[in-house]
Amino acid sequence: MAQARPRTFWLDPEVAGHAVPEAAPALSGAERADLAVVGGGYSGLWAALIAKERDPGRDVVLLEARTVGWAASGRNGGFCAASLTHGHGNGAQRWPEEIAELERLGRQNLDGIQSTVERHGIACEFERTGEMAVATEPWQVDDLTDEAAALRALGQRVRTLTGARVRAEVDSPTYLGGLFDPDGVALVHPAKLAWGLREACLRLGVRIREHTPVRAIRPERGGLRLESRGGSVSAERVAWGGGGFPGPLRRVRHFVAPVYDYALVTEPLSSEQLAAVGWGNRQGVSDSGNRFHYYRLTADNRILWGGYDVVYHYGGRVRPAYDQRPDTFHRLARHFFTTFPQLEGLSFTHSWGGVIDTCSRFCAFFGTAHRGRLAYAAGYTGLGVGATRFGAQVMLDRLDGADTERTRLAMVRAKPVPFPPEPLRYAGIQATKRAIAAADRDGGRRNAWLRTLDAVGMGFDS
Ligand SMILES: Cc1cc2nc3c(=O)[nH]c(=O)nc-3n(C[C@H](O)[C@H](O)[C@H](O)COP(=O)(O)OP(=O)(O)OC[C@H]3O[C@@H](n4cnc5c(N)ncnc54)[C@H](O)[C@@H]3O)c2cc1C
Repeated sequence: MAQARPRTFWLDPEVAGHAVPEAAPALSGAERADLAVVGGGYSGLWAALIAKERDPGRDVVLLEARTVGWAASGRNGGFCAASLTHGHGNGAQRWPEEIAELERLGRQNLDGIQSTVERHGIACEFERTGEMAVATEPWQVDDLTDEAAALRALGQRVRTLTGARVRAEVDSPTYLGGLFDPDGVALVHPAKLAWGLREACLRLGVRIREHTPVRAIRPERGGLRLESRGGSVSAERVAWGGGGFPGPLRRVRHFVAPVYDYALVTEPLSSEQLAAVGWGNRQGVSDSGNRFHYYRLTADNRILWGGYDVVYHYGGRVRPAYDQRPDTFHRLARHFFTTFPQLEGLSFTHSWGGVIDTCSRFCAFFGTAHRGRLAYAAGYTGLGVGATRFGAQVMLDRLDGADTERTRLAMVRAKPVPFPPEPLRYAGIQATKRAIAAADRDGGRRNAWLRTLDAVGMGFDS
């Protein structure tokens, strides 16, 4: 860890090939637009891009508080998953009648991301490698076997793998079995995806205003006025993609808890180190406890290793200082070398954290405000790289008043159970985290607290 710089690998301009775009000027004066998009993460970028693709004549402006991709969208693990429901298991439990449709729409969405990346020439190191879930405890082998059966019943070509088969792919003494999904996940360079979408938006004529935090939303004749320090935008319609940040859209706060997720990146592996691990197929990997790690190779053969600890600060506080958490980094590093003892001596070069917009059902929810003039999507809970494109389409469908397969989904129409106010929110999250850790120690068995939450459809995850 001694070499680890306290910054996000993907956003680090000193890493070869990371050309951070120059920020666009902030909003100044009064502007008008047909559609104003708030947020320069994937949610906002997809909304702006798809709005222009659907109707090139629409005048679109995007307002970003800092710079495009600085938040979760530029600092995630880069697992671009088809699942719209934070995994098949969560979706099947909540919407059993809809899960086949949700899985189909999710696969279509991932295909749509791939074709957009190709059509706009977005160089984001997109690799459709699939993902291997690995079991490191016997109860996880059983869970993965059940999961495989459920996915096969939906026509997906997933494969269960013995411990030996998993280790032939990626070699760790901790692996007991696995489940490989070749189609459901692509890996991307997250910041390059955000910057590439930004570039595509600009080419289609979207006006981008960075360093422009929207402080107030005011109804006015024919639309809404968004106010920032240096100016305002009057727009007929607003798409709100503010992620996990508390802002003027108060109604979302009941449903979203900003939580911190952390990651490390190693130095590039030498060819001997790579040979000691295998990983010739470069698939994304995640382990299968309730608290899990996700890991993958970068284009220059470093390993990104993240997850496990999920940290909520009292009152939903979000602070730059929380991006660094030495205890968590040391824990992650220990887990890394338990998984890959053959890499003893490898250094980490980057450590960082970022905010996830967790909601109690673990996948995005949708709504409108100001008499349907504003639409929002939030609550992606750690699986928004792919799903934000779907969420952006839902926002635009709603703003256009379109009745679509997406807007008819029960998943889209229903809201999650809200989190309680403080201090209950903090106490409840801490109790749930302790219960989840106990379940991992106890063969996956869920105690009375977790079973009660399950019964009311609530939970806490990353
Ligand atoms: C460490 C980490 C690892 C992750 N790994 C994965 C992964 O591997 N796969 C996966 O699918 N997901 C992952 N995620 C989650 C994923 O990154 C998010 O779900 C996704 O990026 C959400 O995109 P977004 O646009 O909704 O939010 P964000 O990327 O947070 O963007 C929101 C933007 O809105 C802006 N904003 C907010 N309020 C205002 C305002 N009032 N005015 C103007 N601008 C505003 C913010 O400045 C920000 O730029 C991870 C997240 C983290 C933090």
